[in-house]
Amino acid sequence: MPITEAHLETLNKALGQSGLRSTRQREVVYGVVAVAKDHPTADEIFARSRQEMPTISLATVYNCLETLNDCSLIRQVNFERESTRYEPNLQPHAHFYCDKSGRVMDVQLPDELFSKLKNLLPQTASVSSIELNFRGNMPQS
Ligand SMILES: [Zn+2]
Repeated sequence: MPITEAHLETLNKALGQSGLRSTRQREVVYGVVAVAKDHPTADEIFARSRQEMPTISLATVYNCLETLNDCSLIRQVNFERESTRYEPNLQPHAHFYCDKSGRVMDVQLPDELFSKLKNLLPQTASVSSIELNFRGNMPQS
């Protein structure tokens, strides 16, 4: 699926702010991650990107993902011992990792919970991000 006009605009704006320009490769990779709801790994993003651009290499996909992450267009999601996953959802939220299916689901948390968590730290601490991961088994409905 080709990148949407809206996503293209977001991409060009963010890259421009970092002094970078858009490339066809960056457009393809961002187009894939921007609509992904399943927290794909780099390998999965590579497979989806090849449907759009058969000549793209895995190394290029990794480079693009790094750039997009640096520009705060996408976010990395890490679980111990698992491959890094990527997502377009930049809002603070937690994740549930299902050990049985390997699926990763977003868990929305109330804003006040994040403030409460931050309040557990000394007042002098400045928080740039919080990672909250659940792990277990979630039968598919
Ligand atoms: Zn997520």
